[in-house]
Amino acid sequence: MKNVLSCIQPTGDLHLGNYFGAVQNWVRLQENYQCTYGVVDYHSMTMPYKAETLRENTWKMVFYLLACGIKPENLFIQSLVPEHAELSWVLSCLTSYGELSRMTQFKDKSKQLEEKSGQDVFVGAGLFVYPVLQAADILIYHADYVPIGKDQQQHLELSRDIAQRFNHQFGKEYFIHPEPLFTETPKILSPADPNKKMSKSLGEKHYINLFGEEDRIRKQIKSAVTDTGETKAGEMSPGVQNLFELLRACGHMAAFQSLMADYHAGTLKYSDLKEEVANSVAGLVNPLRERLSTLQADKRNVKAQIQESSAEIRKRAQQTMREVRELTGLASLK
Ligand code: AMP
Repeated sequence: MKNVLSCIQPTGDLHLGNYFGAVQNWVRLQENYQCTYGVVDYHSMTMPYKAETLRENTWKMVFYLLACGIKPENLFIQSLVPEHAELSWVLSCLTSYGELSRMTQFKDKSKQLEEKSGQDVFVGAGLFVYPVLQAADILIYHADYVPIGKDQQQHLELSRDIAQRFNHQFGKEYFIHPEPLFTETPKILSPADPNKKMSKSLGEKHYINLFGEEDRIRKQIKSAVTDTGETKAGEMSPGVQNLFELLRACGHMAAFQSLMADYHAGTLKYSDLKEEVANSVAGLVNPLRERLSTLQADKRNVKAQIQESSAEIRKRAQQTMREVRELTGLASLK
């Protein structure tokens, strides 16, 4: 079986965009690949954060992913495998300043920080070098495939370049070149401003929490913006497209087709579409929330299970580091 590697930052809540755009796909990939999924807490240190929130959010994300159907044996917490940081150092010596300066995510995020903090802006070196840590996340498990969206393509290309440089410098085809796995996943838009992607950073009304209360989810869908006033005649507005996209993502194709026929006939009532979307989303999230409560009732065991799976996954990372130490001329323990 080919190896798949993917990671997610412990950002707090998981929203419908994360679920349909990433996590649902991860769950499906487990059927055909050997999957390794990381909750990458080292990465969350690149932007300002509080220590107690980081630890809490890391475990929160672990529980969310398990509730969504990620198998515990496939899941690890990045900082429980400190070899990621070690390999990252080795790889950073094979990465140029120029390459890192060209990463668009660095430019976007440092700009975000400047806008927030003005003159007192502190842009940590971690934010600059985090694509190298990402390369280490991927290469340390010799991943064949990385499921990514277009926004991560640049970072994966950097990982491939670093792998190639390592192999060239140390004279061995050691790291395989990871391939992107582009799977078709929908892009979910903000219910409050459908010109933007659903995202936590825009604020509470811009994302629908996957594990939120059903009432709130229904309210958010019922008040979703359908008419932004900028749509050309005969074109479906982004807000309405988003509602149809959610119906499709929930797999309710019969309702999708019949409401789409109403839309084309000019007889669609947005209130009917929203009702159908609210029911479909509730049908998806309610069982997930129940699974989450079951897991939370057994918190201690679940945590122990993930500590153990992280230790198992760490063995693979340690093997890679033993070989990397040998190849790169670092001192050996024996
Ligand atoms: P983030 O926390 O924003 O980095 O997102 C984690 C994962 O969810 C990434 O794989 C994103 O591509 C995916 N994702 C985030 N927001 C959306 C969205 N609005 N629609 C679809 N996928 C999304």
